Amino acid sequence: MPQSAEKTLDHAPLFCEPEYRQMLAKKKLKFECPHPDQVVSDQREFTKTWEYREKNLARQALVVNPAKACQPLGAVFAAAGFERTISFVHGSQGCVAYYRSHLSRHFKEPSSVVSSSMTEDAAVFGGLKNMVDGLANTYKLYSPKMIAVSTTCMAEVIGDDLHGFIENAKSEGSVPRDFDVPFAHTPAFVGSHVDGY
Ligand code: SF4
Repeated sequence: MPQSAEKTLDHAPLFCEPEYRQMLAKKKLKFECPHPDQVVSDQREFTKTWEYREKNLARQALVVNPAKACQPLGAVFAAAGFERTISFVHGSQGCVAYYRSHLSRHFKEPSSVVSSSMTEDAAVFGGLKNMVDGLANTYKLYSPKMIAVSTTCMAEVIGDDLHGFIENAKSEGSVPRDFDVPFAHTPAFVGSHVDGY
């Protein structure tokens, strides 16, 4: 593979390397069951014809699929604007992996976000312990100036109270009492990342 510690390629040039070209060609052949080249090229030519144009102009309805993501992504993006501030999302790791990859792809640089890694037990009994441990770890590992907390839909469905949880975490010494931990409830099942921001 062409990656090494000295030479780390972004995904666009990386996928142009011969190893990846070969792998993608194999994948296409074996798993994508593509149409023959002739059919693809005929279709491409058809899209340039007057008939195709008329068909498009004859459309009576339009479905718009807006590029919207869930609320916490907006909150994470907002927190990224503050110096040495780390986002802490109270919820599951999978959601946070999605925000990180989304922002990393967009900005073409790594994006740090931590989660309280809620799993089944936290979903049943509440995520207080995850918040207490998570804030302590984040404070120790990243030495941030501020930790900005938001929530995923799981934490909102079970009704975790961020204000109470953060106060409890401070009482247990996860972060100093005067350390800034702003928070926003960002239920992912209403609105979009715009509301979250
Ligand atoms: S919609 Fe809910 S489960 Fe999906 S990424 Fe957003 S917070 Fe996570």
